[in-house]
Amino acid sequence: MRADALVTRYCFHPLRRLIPLPKGRVPILMYHSISSVVQGPRHPYYETATSPQMFARHMQFLAQNNYQPVGLAEAVQYMDNPGQRRARPVVITFDDGYRDFYTHAFPVLAELGFTATVFLPTASIGDTARSLHQTQCLTWSQVVELHKAGIHFGSHTVSHPQLKLMDAKTVEYEVRCSKEAIQDRLGYPVPSFAYPYAFPETDRLFLQGLRGLLVQTGYENGVCTIIGTADRTSDRFFLERLPMNTYDDTGFLRAKLDGAYDWMHTFQYATKFMAGRHHG
Ligand SMILES: [Zn+2]
Repeated sequence: MRADALVTRYCFHPLRRLIPLPKGRVPILMYHSISSVVQGPRHPYYETATSPQMFARHMQFLAQNNYQPVGLAEAVQYMDNPGQRRARPVVITFDDGYRDFYTHAFPVLAELGFTATVFLPTASIGDTARSLHQTQCLTWSQVVELHKAGIHFGSHTVSHPQLKLMDAKTVEYEVRCSKEAIQDRLGYPVPSFAYPYAFPETDRLFLQGLRGLLVQTGYENGVCTIIGTADRTSDRFFLERLPMNTYDDTGFLRAKLDGAYDWMHTFQYATKFMAGRHHG
C-alpha cells in the first residue's frame, strides 16, 4: 500500500477517532474527471480521475453515513454558526467542467438528491463541445440544464492558466471574465472561485492581491488545492479540499472525511516546489 494511505489509515485515523470532531468543520471533496481512463503511470497521489463505479460507491457511503451535500455558501455559513444539524455537511466539487460530470456523476447525484459544485474554465465551455486537457467539456446547454436541476457553478478562470505566472491585467481578465460568462448564461451572481493548479500558498503578497481582486469582482467564497478540512479558521476564498480519485476506497474516504488525511498538508507544503504537476 502507498505510504500516504498507510499512515492515514493505520496511524492518523485511529488517533483521530479517539477525539470528538470539533463543530463547524466541513469536508470539501475535490473531483475532476469521472472516468475509467486513469492518466498513469504515476503515483496514485497525482491521479485525478475517479471511475464511475468508485464515484457511485463514494456517494452511497455519504448517503449511508448521514452526510448532506451543500453548496459553498451554506458550508461557510455553517462554519461560522454550526448550531444544531441532524446531517453532517459536505461539499462535493468538480474542477474543469468535464462532460463526464453530465454523463457519469450527475445521474448518481440526482438519484440521491445530492447537490454539487462544478468549476468551469469558461473558454472550454461552448455552444458545441470543446475540450481541456484532451478531455471533452460540458456545453452551455448542459450547464443550464444542470443548473436548473440544482447544481451550483463557479469560476475556474477563463483559460485555466497558472495565475501566479501571469501579469496583473491577465489575472484580472481571467477572474472577471469567467464570472461574467457564467452569469450571462445562468442569470445569477456567481459567488465561487476555484484556483487552478497547485496553490501558491507560500506567496503571501500574490495571495493578498488575488484575494482583493476576488472581493472587488464580487466573489464571496472559493476553494483551492490545499489539502485539509475547512473550518472557521480557513480563508473563505481559499478553502482547503480533500483530493479524491479512483484509488480512494470507502475506508480511505471515511478516513479523509474524519480529518485523518489533513496531516498530508505538511507534506504537500514541503514538496510544493518539487512536485510541480499536482493539478487542481
Ligand atoms: Zn483545473
